[in-house]
Amino acid sequence: MHKRLFTPGPTEVRAGILKELATPQVHHRSPEFSSLYAEIQPKLQQLLYTKAPVLLFTSSSTGAMESAVTNLVAKRCLNLVNGAFSKRWHEIAVGNGVPCDAFSIAWDRAIKPEMVDEQLATGKYDAVTLVMNETSTGLVNPVKEIAKVVDRYPDVFLLIDAVSGMAGVKIETDLWNLDFVLAGVQKAFALPAGFAVAAVSERALARAEAVPPRSYYFSLPAMYKSHKKNQTPSTPSIPHMYALNAQLSDMLEEGLDERFARHEQMAKIVQAWAKKHFDIFPEEGHWSPTLTCVKNTGEIDVAGLIRSLADDYNLRIANGYGDLKGKTFRIAHMGDTQIDEAEGLLKAIETILNL
Ligand SMILES: *Cc1c(COP(=O)(O)O)cnc(C)c1O
Repeated sequence: MHKRLFTPGPTEVRAGILKELATPQVHHRSPEFSSLYAEIQPKLQQLLYTKAPVLLFTSSSTGAMESAVTNLVAKRCLNLVNGAFSKRWHEIAVGNGVPCDAFSIAWDRAIKPEMVDEQLATGKYDAVTLVMNETSTGLVNPVKEIAKVVDRYPDVFLLIDAVSGMAGVKIETDLWNLDFVLAGVQKAFALPAGFAVAAVSERALARAEAVPPRSYYFSLPAMYKSHKKNQTPSTPSIPHMYALNAQLSDMLEEGLDERFARHEQMAKIVQAWAKKHFDIFPEEGHWSPTLTCVKNTGEIDVAGLIRSLADDYNLRIANGYGDLKGKTFRIAHMGDTQIDEAEGLLKAIETILNL
């Protein structure tokens, strides 16, 4: 029996979208492929409020994170760390021999614009990595406000991991002057894992040409060269592209503002529920619109709850991430999840825990 996913990645994929993955294959050097590529592009640009190219990665989000730091750091990178995925981005930079420093704060605190200002004032950096929505802690960082600070340093590029935010919250790429905004599609896009997208600014593409190559598969100049011909340098996951194309059409049909409002609404419901029965892990004012990390103040058996939900209700939520296992649990309210479905999940939890 299928367990309906309320996990913050992968998320539940609708049956109609799963069918798209079974579209008969076309050859990746055929005109049919280029038409598919060309069809996807303007929809992604619309979703990301950008005129910049949105490149397609046949990899999970981690590959696109690797692409950002290997291609776009000429001098030194500042990695802002307040959760598991921002920590990973630092590790990716270190692992690739990219000069970098981590600026780390407590995982329940948001990165504040002043902190970034203070770091950039040292003049050491020409790139900053920031995770918009920390899926490990359900925390949203103030990207727009931080982008304003970064704007005051003309040589510094802002690289954003928007993995569990993109397609769930509004990201105004061009207006905020973001240089690289990436996301894997298995979170708020509600597609199967294994594919990622990233908007790359004009100046970022120019710097990537000048930086000595550190990567072959994730080379932005190579990807951009193919992009201009509606192609990818190597064979991409064509099934994902069919599914992405259909899903983007459905999102635009729902209406982006409506989609974002639905996420906000579900967040409010789950947050109110979490406050009533437990608490919420990150500091107030920075709760994620796409997932809630519930603080286990009632000392419930989290693993037991997850098991009961799966065995008795065919519903799956996520335990806390890493050290937060047992101390928190995470409920995703993103992707194509509807309000009544989120409410149904909360009811099931109440029944199991006698709340
Ligand atoms: C899930 C996630 C990642 C890693 O994604 P993979 O697709 O597993 O590589 C990175 N950053 C954030 C914020 C995530 O939520």
